[in-house]
Amino acid sequence: MKILVSVKRVVDYNVKVRVKSDGTGVDIANVKMSMNPFDEIAVEEAVRLKEKGVATEIIAVSCGDAKCQETLRTAMAIGADRGILVETAEELQPLAVAKLLKALVDKEQPSLVILGKQAIDDDNNQTGQMLAALADLPQATFASKVEVAGDKVSVTREVDGGLETLSLSLPAVITSDLRLNEPRYVTLPNIMKAKKKQLDTVKPEDLGVDVKPRLKTLKVAEPPKRGAGIKVPDVATLVDKLKNEAKVI
Ligand code: AMP
Repeated sequence: MKILVSVKRVVDYNVKVRVKSDGTGVDIANVKMSMNPFDEIAVEEAVRLKEKGVATEIIAVSCGDAKCQETLRTAMAIGADRGILVETAEELQPLAVAKLLKALVDKEQPSLVILGKQAIDDDNNQTGQMLAALADLPQATFASKVEVAGDKVSVTREVDGGLETLSLSLPAVITSDLRLNEPRYVTLPNIMKAKKKQLDTVKPEDLGVDVKPRLKTLKVAEPPKRGAGIKVPDVATLVDKLKNEAKVI
């Protein structure tokens, strides 16, 4: 069974992002970039399925500029077998990424596609759902447990009221939530091994996909600065302030 995993290169979660002075976006010049944390979880899950003997091959895919090769090498150091870079300098929106992944699903015919539930840079939470719709595949988003049995996959999802378990027929699309697993540390020997793994590069045109942005960003602004907090001496004062000053209770 083949698994396709998508990995996005995003601003590292430890970086405090700054908005560009002209309000056109976030400044990513000279900023540390890493694999989207939910995608690390997605790769880890695929690797665990391979270690259990369920999966036979894991293909990591990243869409973006040539630097995404680093992200693919990290995925291969975690345990992906090969990587595909869909190289473009164009700003990619979720629909474009979903179309690129759909083209690769058609080509590679994986039994399972695992994406992150959202990319921490744009927080769209759209790509997995759009891919499932375009590829006409069943989907289970926000997975916290994945179990494959025969031609079915059982996925536990964290929903507001508790846990929901879905059974999907393979092939299917899954998006990973935070509690699905804890990704392993990438070891030096595995980083070295990953350098020798196959990494193919294709262009969106090769896949017949037009990736031109469909949405226009009008303005990006910093959130308003929060005022300093205060310390209250006791609960009675806190309740009084919440009632009479903040008027929230
Ligand atoms: P989003 O819908 O943008 O929040 O992204 C959800 C998931 O889609 C991410 O966690 C990735 O797995 C995948 N994804 C989004 N953009 C890309 C990209 N440029 N390259 C690879 N995967 C991506």
